[in-house]
Amino acid sequence: MAGDEGSRIPGFHALSPAERLDAVGRRSNLGNEGKAHLLEAGAPLTELADHLAENVIGTMSIPLGVATNLIVDGEEVLVPMATEESSVVAAVCNAAKQCRETGGIFASWTGPRMIAQIQLLGVADPHHARVNLLERRDEIAALCDSCDPMLVKLGGGFRDLEVRLLETRVGPMVVLHLIVDTRDAMGANAVNTMAEKLAPHLESWVGGTVKLRILSNLADQRLVRARAVWKTETIGGPEVRDGMIAASAFAEADPYRAATHNKGIMNGISAVVLATGNDTRAIEAGAHAYASRSGRYTALSRWEETADGDLAGTLELPMAVGVVGGATKVHPTAQANLKIMGIAGAERLAKVIAAVGLTQNFAALKALATTGIQAGHMRLHARNLAITVGAEGEEIDRVAAALIDRGEIRQDVAEAVLAEIR
Ligand code: NAD
Repeated sequence: MAGDEGSRIPGFHALSPAERLDAVGRRSNLGNEGKAHLLEAGAPLTELADHLAENVIGTMSIPLGVATNLIVDGEEVLVPMATEESSVVAAVCNAAKQCRETGGIFASWTGPRMIAQIQLLGVADPHHARVNLLERRDEIAALCDSCDPMLVKLGGGFRDLEVRLLETRVGPMVVLHLIVDTRDAMGANAVNTMAEKLAPHLESWVGGTVKLRILSNLADQRLVRARAVWKTETIGGPEVRDGMIAASAFAEADPYRAATHNKGIMNGISAVVLATGNDTRAIEAGAHAYASRSGRYTALSRWEETADGDLAGTLELPMAVGVVGGATKVHPTAQANLKIMGIAGAERLAKVIAAVGLTQNFAALKALATTGIQAGHMRLHARNLAITVGAEGEEIDRVAAALIDRGEIRQDVAEAVLAEIR
């Protein structure tokens, strides 16, 4: 650690963002230039950021691109994507363009039902307790709904109850699932509040001790599904189609491949989730847990040949996103992005996100099954390298083009090319 002070900074949380930045600057190699950058880059949103998170010193920008060409359920939509990774936005534009002739992407969802879990330890008679709790469904419903009259007024609230008995290495557990319709909210806070309110009642009814009271990110009652068909002649012929189907089969059969297959899907999904101020970690956790639901991790999508010989892709995963709650309503960029999409509700947002995931997956599989993804990636990587070695303005494209021409996309070559140009 640079500077003469350590990482213990008493009262850090009570400082202003600028004061915190000073304190961090004194303890690091940030330097005046780094400090000035953070001050300037963060300026417009630092005050808001200070309310959203803790110990804030600024904000960090991520490129915001717009995916074009998408038609979801017959409606054209422009989709903002926040991602630092090159090729992600371009891939969606490209894949979406190739399925416009078949009507684009079609999506459906199961509704916004979230699950909250309550863990009960030390219950003497778990089976008796289970039946006792199920019997109290109406009482439990009333207690949950009393926590959130606003949600109930909007048509949401308690929907169902499940009681599971788990055998664990610390003994048996009674686990109660509250199933709650959270309408246009992601709903974590909403259901956590209900779970906490219910806890003392559970103890008084069935004994034992309540420990955890928290939602499950395996939101398998809040699924979104997307499907689309790509004409074989449009995508480059039967060989391309069959290569993509074989790539899908590979991911279905092998967790090593499935992890990367699903990562590609999440490239698109997380970018829209982030752009709308939603919780990327919640969506990622839900997706990967859902991909493992059979006990073996597998692909979230499936690719098949249709009766007409075309390529059909389908995707299904949990999608707990909202347009109210969390950062969605308070972050002006999230609000602007929802306006670009013309979205006012969680249902359409979930469907558009799934459509982006499916098209992203199409693009990745097509590239992998044909030319490989490096050609596209390396073009953008060449530009990044040019910027890294100090190219400015039109030098960036000249250096990048020279690296591609030489087939040597490396930093040392970029330095040499820039020197030659200058
Ligand atoms: P929230 O509590 O801020 O907003 C939801 C509330 O808004 C509802 O309870 C309701 O009272 C009200 N509301 C107003 N209009 C509504 C509408 N049209 N539809 C639904 N509700 C409406 O937020 P939340 O969605 O309950 O929680 C989301 C936040 O919780 C995110 O920031 C997330 O990161 C965080 N979180 C996540 C986890 C997790 O994923 N494990 C855990 C804890 C917290």
